Amino acid sequence: MSELNAPAGAPFFHYDGAQLMAESVSVSELAARFGTPLYVYSRAALKAAWESYAQPLTNRNALVCFGMKANSNLAVLQQFAQWGSGFDIVSGGELARALKAGARPDTIVFSGVGKQDWEIEAALQAGVKCFNVESTDELERISLIASQLGCTAPVSLRVNPDVDAKTHPYISTGLKDNKFGIAIEIAAEVYQRAAVLPGIRIVGVDCHIGSQITQIEPYLDALERLLNLLDTLAGLGIRLEHLDIGGGLGIRYQDETPIAPALLLDAVFAMLESRGYDYLQLVLEPGRSLVGNAGILVTRVQYLKHHESKNFAIVDAAMNDLLRPTLYDAWHGVLPVLCPTDASHTAQSRVYDIVGPICESGDWLARDRQLRLQQNDLLAIESAGAYGFVMSGQYNTRPRCAEVMVDGDQTYLIRPRETVEQLFASEQMLPV
Ligand SMILES: *Cc1c(COP(=O)(O)O)cnc(C)c1O
Repeated sequence: MSELNAPAGAPFFHYDGAQLMAESVSVSELAARFGTPLYVYSRAALKAAWESYAQPLTNRNALVCFGMKANSNLAVLQQFAQWGSGFDIVSGGELARALKAGARPDTIVFSGVGKQDWEIEAALQAGVKCFNVESTDELERISLIASQLGCTAPVSLRVNPDVDAKTHPYISTGLKDNKFGIAIEIAAEVYQRAAVLPGIRIVGVDCHIGSQITQIEPYLDALERLLNLLDTLAGLGIRLEHLDIGGGLGIRYQDETPIAPALLLDAVFAMLESRGYDYLQLVLEPGRSLVGNAGILVTRVQYLKHHESKNFAIVDAAMNDLLRPTLYDAWHGVLPVLCPTDASHTAQSRVYDIVGPICESGDWLARDRQLRLQQNDLLAIESAGAYGFVMSGQYNTRPRCAEVMVDGDQTYLIRPRETVEQLFASEQMLPV
C-alpha cells in the first residue's frame, strides 16, 4: 500500500491482511462487541502525538496545555494528565472535567471570549495557572470577582495579532475581524489598565491564530508581533512570565503535509533567543494535533441506493455523530474495515456519497468515494479523534455513540452508548 493510501492514523490504525486493526485489535470485533456507530481511539497514537511535542521540549521551560475541546473524554484527559500535560479550557464544564481527570490546577489556562461569573469564580477557587483574557470588559469583570473573593487572578491577554493563518474561515481566529482576542494596537493600553486594577496579576501574553494550520510562517509572523508588543511593555515596566502561542497545528486528513511540532518549536525558540526572551516559559495549546489521527468512527452500511447520477451508501452514523463534514465541508478518509477481496464480496466498485439517516440534506459524511460496498459492510471514517464525539448531539433523538480506547490487545469502554430512555429521562410533561 502506498504512503498516501495508508490509513491517516498509521501505524496505529493499519491493515493486517484484509482486516483493519486498531493496534492489535480487529475493528470488526470491536463493532461486533460494542455495536455501531462507534468511536475507537488508540492509546499508542495519543502517546506518540504527545511525544512529538514532549521530545523537542525536553529541558526547555515549556508547558503543553492540551486544547481539550478537541476531545474531552475523561480517559483521554487522564492519559494526558499522567504524561504531564496541562489543559487549555474554554468553559466551567471543561474545568470540572479536567480536574476530575486529575489535572493539576496550576497547569490549566482558561481561554474563551465569553467567560461567565460562575466560571470565573470556579477557576479562581480551583487556582488555575491563568485567565487568557479576551476583552477589557472581561478584565474588569475578573478584577471585580477576584477582589470580592479576596484573591488575585493571574492574567494573560489574548492578543489578536492580525495574521492570516491560511486555513478555513470558520477556524481562522487571528484576523482583525474575528471575535477573538484584543487587537494588538490597543494591547499595551489594556496591559497598563490591568497593571492598576485590583485583584489582577499580569503573568503572560497569548495568541491563537486558527486551526488546521499547515504552514510555519503565520506562527512566526504572530510571534514577531507579540515580541514587538513585549518590547513596548518592557518600556512601560511590565514584565511577563510566559508566552503562549496557542494551538492550531494541522494533521493529515487527505493529502496535507502537517508541520512536525519539533520544526515549529525550533523556529520559535530561535526567535525567542535572538530577541532575548528565552527566559519566558513557552506555553502551547495543541488540540487537534494531539488527538485527531488517534481516532476513527466505525459505521455500518444500512442500505445502498443507486440513482441515475449518484450512488448513496446510507450508514448508521450521521451528522449528529460527526458534524465536521457538514459544518466545515471537511474531508475525512473512508476505509473498508474488511477489504472486499474475498470471492464472497460480489459488489462492484462505484462512486458513493456516504450519508446518514437524518432528515437533512447536509447529513453526509463523505462524498464521491470509490468503494466496493454491500449491505452490512463496516466502514471507518478516519481522523475522527478531534472535534468528533465532542461535537456530537442527539438530533433526531439519536443516542450518542459509545467510545472505546484500545491499548495494545486490550480494549476499554470509556463511554457506553447512550440509551434512548436517557435522552428524555429529565424532561417533564405538563400536568394533565
Ligand atoms: C480550539 C483552541 C485551541 C486548540 O486548537 P487546535 O486547532 O485543535 O490545536 C487552542 N487554544 C484556543 C484558545 C482554542 O480556542
